[in-house]
Amino acid sequence: MARQVAMVIDLNKCIGCHTCTTACKSLWTDEPGQEYMLWHNVETKPGPGYPENWEASGGGWENGQLKPGQLMSKESHGTECSVNHEAVFFDASEIRLRQDEKMKVGSNWNEDSSSGEYPNNYHFYLPRLCNHCTKPSCLEACPVRAIYKREEDGVVLIDQDKCQGLRACNTACPYKKIYYNHVTKKSQKCIFCFPRLEKGEAPACAKQCPGKLRFVGFLEDEDGPIHKLVYEWKVALPLHPEYGTEPNVFYVPPILPNAYDDNGDISDDPRVPIEYLRQLFGEEVDGALITLDVEMERKKQGKSSQLMDLLIAKDWKSMFNIPDVRIE
Ligand code: SF4
Ligand code: SF4
Repeated sequence: MARQVAMVIDLNKCIGCHTCTTACKSLWTDEPGQEYMLWHNVETKPGPGYPENWEASGGGWENGQLKPGQLMSKESHGTECSVNHEAVFFDASEIRLRQDEKMKVGSNWNEDSSSGEYPNNYHFYLPRLCNHCTKPSCLEACPVRAIYKREEDGVVLIDQDKCQGLRACNTACPYKKIYYNHVTKKSQKCIFCFPRLEKGEAPACAKQCPGKLRFVGFLEDEDGPIHKLVYEWKVALPLHPEYGTEPNVFYVPPILPNAYDDNGDISDDPRVPIEYLRQLFGEEVDGALITLDVEMERKKQGKSSQLMDLLIAKDWKSMFNIPDVRIE
C-alpha cells in the first residue's frame, strides 16, 4: 500500500535554537566529506538562506517538464573558518574570534537580521529539510536511476551504490537539499530518519525540538494531525508550491504582532507583508491566516477551538502518529 509520510512545522513556535539541525548533523553527517552538509538547516527569513540564494537557483518543474537548475557553488555554502582559540582565551588584547576575515557567507550568516524599518522590522525562522516530494524532480533528473521513492512511506532516497556523483539531482532540486560528498563522490540527502521511522520513532529533528512544533505522520491517516492541518483546516502549506514538486513538509505560516502606526499604537496592519508570505507559501496563505486568526480569537474569548488545541499540542506524543511503516 503506497503511503506518504509527512511533517507539519508550526513556524509560530520556532525559536531558532538549531537543536533540530544539530540533532540531524550529529546523527547523519559527521563523516569526512560531509562537513558542509546540513540535511536540515534553520534559516532566517527574509534572507538568502542556505545555500545562499537557493530560491533563485531554478530546478523543479515547469509546464510538465524539468526546469533547468543551477549547481550551487562551494562558496554559496560558505567558506571554512578557523577559530583562534589560543589568542581569544589567553590574550586579553585579542577580541576577534575568527581568523578568516574573508568569510562572507555561511549557514547562519544572516541569522536574526530583520527586514523592514524599525519599529516594524520583522523576521522569522524557517526550518528546512528535504520535502520527500510526491513529484521529486531530483528523482526524474538522475540519469542512472539511483534515486527512488519508497512505496511504504514515500521517503525519497539515493542508492549510494548506484550513484555516480553526476549531480544532476543537485541542480534539479529547487530546494537545494541534495549535497555532494567530495570524499565518497556521491550525492547525499535527508533520509527522513527512515531507520527510526521503521521503529515507530519520529525523525531526530522532530523529536529533539524543544519548541515541540513538529507533527509527523501519514497524509492518508484521516484521524492524524497532519491530515487535519493540511486538508481539513488548510492551515499547513507547502513551501514554494510553484516549484511543482508537491512537497510533503508543510508549514503553519508565521503570525507576528501587528505593526505600529505613526502614533506608536498597534494598528490593524500585519507586520510581515502578505506579499512576502504569498511568495513563500502561495496564495493559499491568505485563507490560512484568516482561519488561524478566527480560531485564536475563539480561544481568547474562552470558547473551544479544535485547531488551537491541535496546534498547542499539550500532549506531545499526539504530534507523532507513526504506525508500522513496513510493507504489509
Ligand atoms: S526536496 Fe529536493 S531532494 Fe527532496 S525529494 Fe524534493 S526534489 Fe528531491
Ligand atoms: S529545534 Fe525546534 S525550535 Fe529549535 S530551531 Fe529547530 S524547529 Fe525551531
